[in-house]
Amino acid sequence: MGSQEGTGLRELERFEHAMRIAQAVSTNPWAGIPGTAPEVLEMPESPDLPAPESNASGPSSPGESGLVLQIPDFCLVLLVGPAGSGKSSLAARHFRPTEILSSDRARAWITDDEAEQEATADAFALLHRMADLRLAWRRLTVVDATNLESAHRQQWLAIARAHHAETVALVLHFPLSLVRERNRARSRQVSQKVLDLHFGRFHAEFPALQGEGYSYIHILEDPHVVETLTLSRVPLPVDRRQDPGPFDLVGDVHACHGELVELLEKLGYKVAPDGLQAVPPTGRRALFLGDLVDRGPEVVQVLELVMGMVEAGHALCLPGNHDDRLMRALLGRPVQTLHGLEATLEQLNAQGSSFRERVLCFFKGLPSHLVLDSGKLVAAHAGLRADLQNRDSKRVRAFCLYGDPTGRLDSDGLPERRDWVREYRGRATVVYGHTPVATAAWRNNTMNLDTGCVFGGRLSALRWPEKELVSVPARQAWCESPRSVWDLEREEPEGGWFGL
Ligand code: ATP
Ligand code: MG
Repeated sequence: MGSQEGTGLRELERFEHAMRIAQAVSTNPWAGIPGTAPEVLEMPESPDLPAPESNASGPSSPGESGLVLQIPDFCLVLLVGPAGSGKSSLAARHFRPTEILSSDRARAWITDDEAEQEATADAFALLHRMADLRLAWRRLTVVDATNLESAHRQQWLAIARAHHAETVALVLHFPLSLVRERNRARSRQVSQKVLDLHFGRFHAEFPALQGEGYSYIHILEDPHVVETLTLSRVPLPVDRRQDPGPFDLVGDVHACHGELVELLEKLGYKVAPDGLQAVPPTGRRALFLGDLVDRGPEVVQVLELVMGMVEAGHALCLPGNHDDRLMRALLGRPVQTLHGLEATLEQLNAQGSSFRERVLCFFKGLPSHLVLDSGKLVAAHAGLRADLQNRDSKRVRAFCLYGDPTGRLDSDGLPERRDWVREYRGRATVVYGHTPVATAAWRNNTMNLDTGCVFGGRLSALRWPEKELVSVPARQAWCESPRSVWDLEREEPEGGWFGL
C-alpha cells in the first residue's frame, strides 16, 4: 500500500503539471491553432445548421454570464469523466439528442438494458460506426462515455482524423466527494468500488490527454462554471457559405502584373494608374486562386495589388503551392529555391524587411480553400475532392496546394497527379488552377482557370454566379514551361469543349 501511495504522489505531481498546461489551453480556446485569426469568431453560423431547439434537451443558448467556450461547428467532442460526473447532463444541455452518441444508450439499443456491461464491446462497435457515418456527413458528434483510458480516446481520435474533423475534449474534473454525492442522489447508481476504480483510472490517464492530439482541451473543474457554461459553435475558417458573392475568380497570376491589371480592367475594376490598387464594380469581389508569385516579371507589384485589395475587403485570396513555398522560405525553413523562387526572394529582399513581414503575415492568414455561396461554390488552388471540402487538416491543405500526387514522376520528371476531376460528382462547383491547361472548360462541374499566362497563354477569370469566362492574352511567354506538353485535360469533357 505504502509504495502505491508513493507512486500515487508522483502521479499526482505529473497530473497537476499536465493540468496546468491543459488549463492554459482551456483559457484560450483557440490557443495553438495556427491561422485562426480573431475575425473567425465573428463569422456567421453555418447556414445549414438547424436553429437550436427550444426544448430543454436541445442546445443551450447564450444567457447567463458564465464561461463561453467556442468549439468548431464541425468537430468530434469527447466528454471525459468518471461515472456520475455529469457528462450526460452536460451533453443534454448543449447538444441535440441526435448529436450525442451515448454508450449507455447503445447498450440499451442492443440489449434493452443500458447497464448490461457484457454488451460494452458491441455498444462501442456500434458507436464507432455511427461516429464514422456522422462525420462523413459532416455532422458535429459528441461521445457521451467515460473515455477514461487513453487507448479508448485514441480510437475516437483516429475516426475523427479519418474525416478531417477537429477534436474537442471536455473533461469533467470534479472531486470524488462531489461525484459520490451526485451518484448517491441519482436513480441509476454505480457502486462505490466502481466509482473508486473510475477515479483511479481517470487520474492515471489524465496526463496522457495532453499528448493525444486534440484541437482543443477544456478542463472543467468548477460545477457552477459547468452549469452556466455556454458552448458557442464557430464555423471553420474555410466555411464562408453565407457569403454569396458575386465573385470574379482569377487563375494563377505568377507575377504577371501587366496582364492582371488588364484583366481587372476588363472585369470592370477601377485600377489606380500605378497599378497597385483596384476597386471592384459595386458589390463584386475578386477571388485569387493562388500562385501569385514566381516565374513572372513583377512579384512585388502583384503582391502589393492583391494584398491591398484583400486588406480593403475588395478581394479574397487562397494560397498556391508557390506562395506556400515562399512563405516557408520567409519563415527561414529549408526549401528548394526552384521554379522562380530565387528571383521572387531577390525582388522581396530589395523591398526590405517590413514588406517581407507583411507578405508572410498575409500568406499565413489564408485558409486552405473556401466554401462559398450556400455551398454552391468551392475555390481551391489545386481543386478539392468532395469528401475533403469544408474540412481542414494537413491532408486537406496539401490537396488544396498540390492536388493528389501519386508519388511517382511523369515523363517530364514532374510529380504525377491523380485526375480527381474524372471521379468528381460533388454538388459544389469547384474552381481551381495549379496545372496549366490550354483552355478553361467545364468538366464534371469543375473548372481549371490556370490558362498558363506566365508561359505565354492567357490570364483567365470566371464571373460567379454568372459562370462567364473573361480572359486576356499574355504579353509574352515569361517563362519556359517545365512540361513538354501542357497538362491538357486528358479527356474530352461531357458535352464537349466550350472554352473561351
Ligand atoms: P455515467 O457515466 O454514469 O453515465 P454521467 O457522467 O453521465 O454518468 P450524469 O448521469 O449526467 O453523469 O450525472 C450524474 C448525476 O449528477 C445525475 O444525478 C445528475 O442529475 C447529477 N448532475 C449532473 N450534472 C449536475 C449539475 N451540474 N449539478 C447538479 N447535479 C448534476
Ligand atoms: Mg451518463
